[in-house]
Amino acid sequence: MSKCIFCKIAEKSIDAFVIYENDRFLAFLDVNPKAKGHTLIIPKRHFENILDLYDDELKLLGKSIKDVVQILKEKLLSNGFTIGINHGKVAGQAVNHLHIHVIPRCVGDGGGSIHSIVNGGSSENVRDVYNIIKNKD
Ligand code: AMP
Repeated sequence: MSKCIFCKIAEKSIDAFVIYENDRFLAFLDVNPKAKGHTLIIPKRHFENILDLYDDELKLLGKSIKDVVQILKEKLLSNGFTIGINHGKVAGQAVNHLHIHVIPRCVGDGGGSIHSIVNGGSSENVRDVYNIIKNKD
């Protein structure tokens, strides 16, 4: 079976503009950037999404995100970021290898907040949803 494109980037069999790397994670510039410095952070091993990632890797993932934000802040003078995951096809995940988008933001970039991604709202009462999640009657 052929490896996914991000596995190939992780093993360096295809090129990418890698800006950060540690034992488990790699960060490279998105080839179709939504902003200057748009970066993707991936685990070097293939995991489809955050639920598949081993718990002991989450701490280093957090550190990787922090380090990448720090690099972009210092080198590109970015002061704001949108950081997120398209988890699942319905959310727009096109590459089935976990990746965290780090998108530097600037005044006038035409983007919105995370709230602007989904516009359907919810007709459910917040307490009812809470009760479902917490198994309360
Ligand atoms: P997503 O919709 O969250 O799966 O986004 C996948 C992202 O991967 C897109 O923003 C693409 O531009 C980016 N992408 C796909 N192939 C490459 C590549 N070879 N190098 C860098 N970025 C890529």
